[in-house]
Amino acid sequence: MHAGVEAGGTKFVCVIGRGPDEIVATHRIEVTEPGPTIGAAVRFFEEAVAARQTIDALGIGSFGPVELRPDHPAYGSITITPKAGWSGVDVVGPFRAALGIPIAFETDVNAAALAEGRWGAARDVRSFVYLTLGTGIGGGAVVDGHVVHGLVHPEMGHVPLPRRPGDTFAGVCPFHGDCLEGMASGPAIAARFGRRAETLEAADRDEAVEVVAYYLAAALRAIVFTLAPERVVLGGGLSQLPGLVVRVRRAFARQVANYPALPEHQDARFVVPAALGQSAGPAGALLLAELATTGEAP
Ligand code: ZN
Repeated sequence: MHAGVEAGGTKFVCVIGRGPDEIVATHRIEVTEPGPTIGAAVRFFEEAVAARQTIDALGIGSFGPVELRPDHPAYGSITITPKAGWSGVDVVGPFRAALGIPIAFETDVNAAALAEGRWGAARDVRSFVYLTLGTGIGGGAVVDGHVVHGLVHPEMGHVPLPRRPGDTFAGVCPFHGDCLEGMASGPAIAARFGRRAETLEAADRDEAVEVVAYYLAAALRAIVFTLAPERVVLGGGLSQLPGLVVRVRRAFARQVANYPALPEHQDARFVVPAALGQSAGPAGALLLAELATTGEAP
């Protein structure tokens, strides 16, 4: 069995299993201070091992930004985050000290992307982009079966965008104001309309969907022209807004303006909803653990 942690900004989901349909134990932890939160996750696995559960390896998909370079002194840590108290927190260290098993560490977005590639909406392609839309907006790129990172992981949620004509909203990103996350994330919608996207009345909800679709399509134009994915998978709570995926497809088709005349870009299979829902993150963490046992790069 493998162990996985989806270390999100509001909750940690710890699982033991082999995939989204083969999970034998789950433990959810509300995120508070780093010490008690990570400590509770470590304890869950320690108790499982004490109860004779065999665990070969652990995969962690963490909210970030995180340090992913294995030879960097801060490897396994969250670097700089607006989330109070969590900048510079060593996520991997306490698990390594307690469990003594191979550990793979990735962003939560990359973990979910890998899961969609193995079991979900991108299992029939080798190169795709996964975007998660929620409190933040994150993107994972899988190219020829492997997630892209170099100096750091991609930060697709923070790309600059052309403004929707007439839109004077300042944006909510603490770093950039009107980047994709600043204009189209859950907090951006809440700031624009005065309440959470899921609770909007029909007319406002329609307008919210238009706004999100416009900015997502603009971002996708840049991302698709840069990375040439075979598919775009949309996940996260905000992707559930009624009609959003269809409107992103439509807006994206307008934005690319039939260049370079690929019928695939217009196809309903190009921009698709995620297939694994909430289980993408934990399943991706289990997949990372599997890769940690084989030594294959994620
Ligand atoms: Zn930003």
